[in-house]
Amino acid sequence: MLRKFLLQASTRRNFSASSSSSVAFFRQCSSSSSSSSQIPNSHFVEHMEDTNETPPSATISIDRTALYNPPEQSHEQSAESELVKHLKNIIKFRGGPVTVAEYMEEVLTNPKLGYYINRDVFGADGDFITSPEVSQMFGEMIGVWAMCLWEQMGRPSKVNLVELGPGRGTLLADFLRGVSKFKNFTDSLHIHMVECSPTLQKLQYRNLKCVTEDSADGNEKKGINSTITGSPVSWHASLEQVPTGLPTIIVAHEFFDALPLHQFQKASRGWCEKMVDVTENSSFRFVLSPQPTPATLYLMKRCKWADSEEIFKLDHIEVCPKAMDLTQEISKRIGIDGGGALIIDYGLNGVVSNSLQAIRKHKFVDILDNPGSADLSAYVDFAAIRHSAEEVSGVSVHGPMTQSQFLGSLGINFRVEALLENCTEEQAESIRTGYWRLVGEGEAPFWEGPDNQTPIGMGTRYMAMAIVMCLLCSVVFPCHVLIINEMLISICEEENVKNIIVRIKNKK
Ligand code: SAH
Repeated sequence: MLRKFLLQASTRRNFSASSSSSVAFFRQCSSSSSSSSQIPNSHFVEHMEDTNETPPSATISIDRTALYNPPEQSHEQSAESELVKHLKNIIKFRGGPVTVAEYMEEVLTNPKLGYYINRDVFGADGDFITSPEVSQMFGEMIGVWAMCLWEQMGRPSKVNLVELGPGRGTLLADFLRGVSKFKNFTDSLHIHMVECSPTLQKLQYRNLKCVTEDSADGNEKKGINSTITGSPVSWHASLEQVPTGLPTIIVAHEFFDALPLHQFQKASRGWCEKMVDVTENSSFRFVLSPQPTPATLYLMKRCKWADSEEIFKLDHIEVCPKAMDLTQEISKRIGIDGGGALIIDYGLNGVVSNSLQAIRKHKFVDILDNPGSADLSAYVDFAAIRHSAEEVSGVSVHGPMTQSQFLGSLGINFRVEALLENCTEEQAESIRTGYWRLVGEGEAPFWEGPDNQTPIGMGTRYMAMAIVMCLLCSVVFPCHVLIINEMLISICEEENVKNIIVRIKNKK
């Protein structure tokens, strides 16, 4: 994820990327043409056939328990995390490198050791911050969008509301608080959280103010409800597990950017897949595959959707089969059950070149450095999402539009004014900064604090795209203005305004 840094990283980078060429520019700023230098502090990429691999030899087992371990060596061994050992074992037992996608999947979501699995990674004490954590207005505006869609569907009495990768559950908590007065809407909601991390599931349970109750028929299955709206809530490991058969509203905020992707690099023999290997001195490095890999099929598919000129200019291409497949799964569900999906993420409306990055404690780090201790994320290829959705019948795709346009059309300006009318000075500062972060571009002009903490706007770097059932209109266009007004008036009422949440304490 191009996570919005809470504090801007001291090595400030230019993230503004409105076209694929600017991604290349961003990566090229740090260096020459070699791919290794395009990744911050990255390892060299070697061609597999060029590596001096020693042939497998017969091994003799030695009991080393009684041997003296020099201090340096013991230190190195104890410093190696379980995840690092696990990754090295995969590479060793397979007898060759793994794809960047396999590496990313193990690092982020390995069921025992993955980055997301055992900790809360968000906020000032974590590694990065996301829009819902910046301001309550973000979740409230998504609530406005969802209610518009529900109105357009003809106010169905039962709806599945699905969030993919809900993090701390903050977005949905703000969403539900915002729409809580619309009883017909909230009574229709069946909430489904798609979350792989048990730790984050617990946080989501808490933030949605859930209670667990014995089911009415006295059987063992307990029902969980959010006390914010009384809606039933359940958790699932994947979208596939969410029951079908009801109109569905799906929200995916900063979910697609964490999906494992394959990286390809142009070499003299054509496009080669970049792989992760282990060197003789036991550190990770990138190598290039000597022959086509299975993911090459997805590369070919992606290239067919692009201009040959666009591809010709690039030395690197990222392809995310999981994003393409998930988009089709979402689209099929919406095409059959009705409803719509909203995808918000940072990304490009075109081929993505070389964007994978690692962030630890609000700073960029090497992708291969101590895997599992930093977030890995990449730009989302919105054009590939659009093409994948358009292959499915019964849905139409809208956008991408910038986050700034999207939140603006939903009336965030009115919401911020209402909040500012009824707040303390401290709250006002937090509301203004939060608003700027959500819709602004570049560095905040009002900032008087230290340079390296200047808030940076996410308004144009983040984009919103909607996939909706064909008969429904789209995200936010003039025909919805009436509904939006009605909702905004409600969420701007005195009672709700008192519910101001100060999320970010800006250090000055
Ligand atoms: N939407 C939240 C969190 C984004 S971080 C926000 O904006 O604050 C990505 C989220 O997706 C985390 O909750 C992570 O645990 C979850 N996640 C990542 N990969 C996943 C997968 N393959 N299946 C289910 N959840 C996943």
